[in-house]
Amino acid sequence: MKIICVGRNYVDHAVELNNAIPTEPVLFMKPKTALLQRGRPLYYPEFTKNLQYECELVVRICKNGKHVQEKFARKYYDAVSLGIDFTARDVQDRLKGAGLPWEIAKAFDGAAAVGSFVPLKPETNVNNLSFRLLHNGRTAQEGNTGYMIFPIDGLIAYISRYFSLNMGDLIFTGTPAGVGPVQVNDVLEAVLEEEKLLKVEIR
Ligand code: MG
Repeated sequence: MKIICVGRNYVDHAVELNNAIPTEPVLFMKPKTALLQRGRPLYYPEFTKNLQYECELVVRICKNGKHVQEKFARKYYDAVSLGIDFTARDVQDRLKGAGLPWEIAKAFDGAAAVGSFVPLKPETNVNNLSFRLLHNGRTAQEGNTGYMIFPIDGLIAYISRYFSLNMGDLIFTGTPAGVGPVQVNDVLEAVLEEEKLLKVEIR
């Protein structure tokens, strides 16, 4: 499986990081080794002094496909969850500043936390799902998929022009505003439509 991530998919987050609003999706990948086993803590990596959370809706691919048309995209995913795209922001800023790929800032071991999956019902409107991230019990991020610059079905079509989709692949769909740093002993919890799907402790 692979983890495909979308950057800058919410206007308010692009603005908070002083990034331009993209005219096409910004994609990057995380390897399978980036998956944080459910229930396991994330150990603060020694190579960063600014580890940050980005809470994102995660879509699970259920069917292999390439060059998927947007109108058929819905057949290619069957469940959603929430994830945290952990980012070594200082490392990312340094690499971005030098015009270099930022993989080591976002694809390191444990950098992709994913909660329990909620199967999608036919009547679920995936373009109107609200979610939030609690940081030590306080709401740090609030989002709704309705505010995505590139909604899910268009993302599936775009991604599958470049990367074949395989059953079990995960798509991190971008974070809303409110990203911020964590410290050792912090607790992050992600809630989708009032259902808590993910809890991660930083050690
Ligand atoms: Mg992200």
